[in-house]
Amino acid sequence: MGDAVVRDVEPEVGGAGPPAAAMSPWEAARYFFMEAAERVGIDSEIVTLLARPYRELHVEVPVRMDDGRLEVFTGYRVQHSGARGPYKGGVRYHPSVDLDEVRALASLMTWKTALVDIPFGGAKGGVQVDPKALSKEEKKRLTRTYTQNIAHLLGVNRDIPAPDMGTDAQTMGWMMDAYGARYGHTPGIVTGKPLAMGGSRGRMEATGRGVALVTRETLRALGRDPEGIRVAVQGFGNVGVYAAQWLCDLGCRVVAVSDVTGGVHRPDGLDVAAVQAHVDASGGVVGFPNAWALSSDGVLEVECDVLVPAALGGVIHADNWHTVQADVIVEGANGPLTPYADWQLQRRGTVVVPDLIANAGGVLVSYFEWAQNIQQYRWSLERVNDELETLLCDAYGTIQTRAGHDGVSLRNAAFMIGVERVAEALDLRGFV
Ligand code: NAD
Repeated sequence: MGDAVVRDVEPEVGGAGPPAAAMSPWEAARYFFMEAAERVGIDSEIVTLLARPYRELHVEVPVRMDDGRLEVFTGYRVQHSGARGPYKGGVRYHPSVDLDEVRALASLMTWKTALVDIPFGGAKGGVQVDPKALSKEEKKRLTRTYTQNIAHLLGVNRDIPAPDMGTDAQTMGWMMDAYGARYGHTPGIVTGKPLAMGGSRGRMEATGRGVALVTRETLRALGRDPEGIRVAVQGFGNVGVYAAQWLCDLGCRVVAVSDVTGGVHRPDGLDVAAVQAHVDASGGVVGFPNAWALSSDGVLEVECDVLVPAALGGVIHADNWHTVQADVIVEGANGPLTPYADWQLQRRGTVVVPDLIANAGGVLVSYFEWAQNIQQYRWSLERVNDELETLLCDAYGTIQTRAGHDGVSLRNAAFMIGVERVAEALDLRGFV
């Protein structure tokens, strides 16, 4: 992979571009899909099939709160496409969760699993709830009821959830137990489980590690040494923390991080482990000593070389794209750039490494976990990390080659490869 591969990308900068007006997450995901489908000339009947999810389930999730009240939350599971294998995708607990967002995230999983060439389709789930407002017992009851209510859609060869924003290994442990109570002990029903319940070594840090690996590959393609590269990270959760740690290990300098409580900035570099210890002790990055305070979104604007949005979707949009100073953006989060912001940043020459590859480390190690559960065999951490690096970097190389060959952006290339593979599977199955 040479310098030319990324530098030679000549994004289509002419034309009117995407609308500047706000798009919902599903509208944005569909925009990128339709653009790719048009570029690769997918059959119009297949486009019709893939332009909407296969199945959407909306469930009530009643929870007896610690104070005796009954609260009823709303949950979803959306299965976008199972053309290439069982549905696969995380479960999000966040106040912003709605059907539109879950739909968008499910479709991104379809393209992502196809892009990294693992035998899964795409799905996503979520509950509209602020998990920080629940006690551990309330969260456990919510998870059990949500799982029971969607269990008829799940199965080792049907649909396999995983963690996402607001959920973690413990949540997956409760999901596995609730599913097992009805269908019998089934470790392969969820990935991202605790190690003691059949989880995979390396899964917890896999998404962040993948972010660091694709950042390394991008810098290499640009002929830049990671040593001293200034990185800013929005979102200091599962993805953001491990991405920051691995990027430090590569020699980068993490100059700013933020979470829901606010942000901190230190131009000569933050001690990521010390920030993590501060978060463990106080609940957020805000108040970390010897650093300037920022807002949660202020981190997007700091002077840096690489920006890693690793929290919510849609954070870089028509009104703030021009304030981004980084010339490389690595999408740890799903859908952090709106189509308009993405188009403007490409025009400006910013290299945008799309979510489909940037955060695919998580689903790759989820695939390893699922395979280990089916085989009832445990891999070493070294094997997990080696195979993650091989599969992720191979897929990224394919995107870079395609982008260079077709003269499109990395995002266009990633979507084109994913969409082509899913369309081929639908065709071979005889759907059309
Ligand atoms: P998480 O819940 O572990 O962490 C989320 C972080 O974002 C927290 O630090 C939270 O405080 C912060 N945050 C929330 N709102 C914010 C705001 N307005 N501004 C700044 N920070 C804010 O979630 P996660 O698992 O790290 O997921 C983060 C993103 O990565 C999501 O978009 C998710 O879909 C994506 N992702 C996660 C995985 C995974 O394996 N966990 C895999 C692929 C993609």
